[in-house]
Amino acid sequence: MQLPHITFGWTDVLDVVLTAYVVYVVLLLIRGTRAVQILQGIALLLVLRLIAQGLHLWTMLSIFNGLLIASGVAIPVVFQPELRRALALLGTGEFIEGRGAHHGAGTDGEVAGIVGRAAAHFARGAIGAIIVIERATGLEEYVESGRVLDARISYELLLTLFAPKTPLHDGAVIVRRDRIVAAGCFLPLSEATVDRRIGTRHRAALGLTEQTDAIVLLVSEETGDIEIARAGRLTLVGKGAEDATSALLAAMAPASTAPNVSFIDRVRMLWGRADGAADRFGKTQLRP
Ligand code: ATP
Ligand code: MG
Repeated sequence: MQLPHITFGWTDVLDVVLTAYVVYVVLLLIRGTRAVQILQGIALLLVLRLIAQGLHLWTMLSIFNGLLIASGVAIPVVFQPELRRALALLGTGEFIEGRGAHHGAGTDGEVAGIVGRAAAHFARGAIGAIIVIERATGLEEYVESGRVLDARISYELLLTLFAPKTPLHDGAVIVRRDRIVAAGCFLPLSEATVDRRIGTRHRAALGLTEQTDAIVLLVSEETGDIEIARAGRLTLVGKGAEDATSALLAAMAPASTAPNVSFIDRVRMLWGRADGAADRFGKTQLRP
């Protein structure tokens, strides 16, 4: 028998290295998430299928085949939020170029200052508020769930919108560049299995940031705490206007200029980690 002529060039080395890296990134991504259990389930199915084939158990084989095909359909359904977010961000080029929306630094500074001052006011009065800052991912569908305003952002307008017992105080305000585009908006709730003390306002902040690159600032009406959500993570910030403003500005900084954002972290941010919630709350001192 004649063996085929085998060559092993530098492209093959590259191929092996790249494949290993992709597998490594995927394993890092799914570590500690629901994806691991799902992959284990699929691996078990594959093993059972091979055993059934080996033992000529034809009916069992066709059942396992059917289950494997069904899981192929189920995966995009189960991971819909993560896939959607990743694809949306791929489309905006952030993944490749590592930068957010082309918002002027001046606008970002002004908006962060106004939102930070308003947050400090809400914190002092323990007034509940949730403010969304749109980045590269369009939030039109959430804008349409509320009352469209399209007004220039101001401290006074934010205070008015979240004043208790007024018609628009319920739901989120959405900010695009230097305008408040809508108020009273309904955001998608996170389905992460988090602490039961986490109410719907916090779940809404997590839910939206799991699916988009938006930044959400919220003030708790229970504790007066100011928190910022980004990429499905909540961080507690100080109650002063300066603390809130600087934390917002840091969250608004493009990934490439933010310190200590490794490639893996960026991939993780894109992934959103819908149920990394437990470690998410472990890392941020959300509530005692
Ligand atoms: P808080 O610490 O302020 O009490 P919480 O996380 O405990 O916040 P709730 O007490 O359930 O949450 O807060 C309810 C308020 O959160 C609602 O009045 C509404 O303004 C806001 N909210 C709830 N769900 C959503 C949503 N899906 N999108 C936008 N805002 C929401
Ligand atoms: Mg509550």
